[in-house]
Amino acid sequence: MPIHLQAASAGLIQYLSPTPVPAPYAVAFSKDCAKQLGIQDDLSHPELLSLLAGNQTHYQNKQWQTYAMAYSGHQFGVWAGQLGDGRAIYLGDWRQYEVQLKGAGPTDYSRRGDGRAVLRSSIREFLCSEAMYHLGIPTSRALAVVGSDLPVRRETIETAAVCTRVAPSFLRIGHIEHYGHNDMQKELENTLDYLIAHHYPEVATKPYPYLALLEAIAMRTGQLAAQWQAVGFCHGVLNTDNTSLLGLTLDYGPFGFLDQFDREHICNHSDEQGRYSYHRQPDILQWNLYCLASAMLLPLKKQLQLDEEAAIERIKSSLDVYAKTYRSAFIDLYRQKLGFQTAHPEDLALIEQLLQLMHHERLDYTLFFRELSEGRQYDAQPSEALLAWLALYQKRIELENMAQDQRLAQMQTINPKYVLRNHLAQNAIERAQAKDFREVARLLKILENPYEEQSGAKDYALPPPADHPPICVSCSS
Ligand code: AMP
Ligand code: MG
Repeated sequence: MPIHLQAASAGLIQYLSPTPVPAPYAVAFSKDCAKQLGIQDDLSHPELLSLLAGNQTHYQNKQWQTYAMAYSGHQFGVWAGQLGDGRAIYLGDWRQYEVQLKGAGPTDYSRRGDGRAVLRSSIREFLCSEAMYHLGIPTSRALAVVGSDLPVRRETIETAAVCTRVAPSFLRIGHIEHYGHNDMQKELENTLDYLIAHHYPEVATKPYPYLALLEAIAMRTGQLAAQWQAVGFCHGVLNTDNTSLLGLTLDYGPFGFLDQFDREHICNHSDEQGRYSYHRQPDILQWNLYCLASAMLLPLKKQLQLDEEAAIERIKSSLDVYAKTYRSAFIDLYRQKLGFQTAHPEDLALIEQLLQLMHHERLDYTLFFRELSEGRQYDAQPSEALLAWLALYQKRIELENMAQDQRLAQMQTINPKYVLRNHLAQNAIERAQAKDFREVARLLKILENPYEEQSGAKDYALPPPADHPPICVSCSS
């Protein structure tokens, strides 16, 4: 049974239509995502524009039954109770993907929110989803942004937009927590079974499928965490309700790519304690997995046929797979970033030393690795410490059995030339706010090929100018 019908049977779904917006207009469209969905039209097609604005629910002779779903979650480490799709309305399944309109009006789960998303945050979500996808990092994707001059109040008055996003499933840890917390064991097991059948079929034949499912989710999450760290991505709001059960990057809000490397970087100005700072992300995801495991405790206990204490011990040791996966993916990714084909015991120390140095000298994260992959020295006047590290690196490289140009070519396939730096997004947003959407399209095009140097795109690979005003990104979106 589709997951939304299961949720419907538990009363955890609201069937509703999106709230229409006045005079919708095309802001951005991903042809590549459309191809994945088998959509041939673009936003110049009035029926598609209207569908993705939330102004009608039929398209190409098909009527969509649109709905929103409830979930719960821990926000900033504290149980927040019921949340849900407060402004994301499912259009339904398109091929094997779930399609949602984010910002399509209030639902039963909006709490006090207006159900809208502003143009600024919608462009950020659109560009970053597609950028992450093309970087090869598991993520939800984005099909389109449709704008409207409908005013929306945030810190200031902005205008509304609807972002169409796409994922194999938007299920979050928060869905499982909702069932666990409310003692809805039947729905809980149904959802776990659904996950196994549709997304983790390899665990179905294991002796304890729910435990194997938990381990498989933990492994995907560990891999994701390593990929974020290696590319210098900060999510910004890693609440359990924003943590995917499929190991996807989900719910783009106040995210940021590192410019200057600062391990303690906090990209979300609402995160005063730095709970979600860059270097804490791997631990936070582990914490979120413990929330997931604790929500799954009853079905796990039942399957394991153990008493509570023994079950908890067993589950804890299963979750060790998270840290193991993370550590091995981390070192593997950095070896690739540095161009090592072989593994040597001293590699980890060399990586750690580099990150320490980059942190102290605030080197630009993306640029440093890219210059290294292009056989250039990052800094015209390198510090003593950097020179010393480069000498060690040179020695380590000599242990590799590969021609330099081949090594550099491989490094360029993992060290991106272009990432969605905040100032690039901001520039595209400001032009879009003035109704010029060409910069969004141009940036999308560049980010669709992040590892390849593109002609005329030199500036897009550069850090923000030194005099660039800091960009304040908060939860408000
Ligand atoms: P977030 O912090 O974006 O992950 O959202 C947390 C919860 O608040 C989710 O249930 C969202 O659907 C809901 N929410 C966030 N912003 C709005 C909004 N503007 N209107 C209605 N619900 C919202
Ligand atoms: Mg969210």
